[in-house]
Amino acid sequence: MARAMLLRCPNCGGRGLFASFFALKPNCPSCGLRIERGESDYFVGAYLFNLIAVELILFFCVCGFVVFTWPDVPWDLLTYVTGALMLAGCFLCYPFAKMTWLAVDLAIRPLSTEELRWHHDGGDIGDRELPHV
Ligand SMILES: [Zn+2]
Repeated sequence: MARAMLLRCPNCGGRGLFASFFALKPNCPSCGLRIERGESDYFVGAYLFNLIAVELILFFCVCGFVVFTWPDVPWDLLTYVTGALMLAGCFLCYPFAKMTWLAVDLAIRPLSTEELRWHHDGGDIGDRELPHV
């Protein structure tokens, strides 16, 4: 999880997984792990992680702001700033959510040597399917 929060490969700790802030490379440059582990729609769980993380962060920030400014809470300012922070947070937290999702998946379904060999060999080229745990 610590590696994921640093945007490093949760499997090997290697860097350079992102081609840009939002786009992942297909494989880890260090260990060769296919980032989506050979599954379509792999990062649907990352969307859920992103939503939960942003909403929790925003909830605690708003609660702290209300407590700090009580009883003269600037409700109009809070409304607009909260909306802007929610949108910005979804974009800024998205890469972290993807790496966290990959780390959780690797914790639940550890990478086997057979699967890593499958990733190194180009994945689903030909009729070879992902070896399941
Ligand atoms: Zn790696």
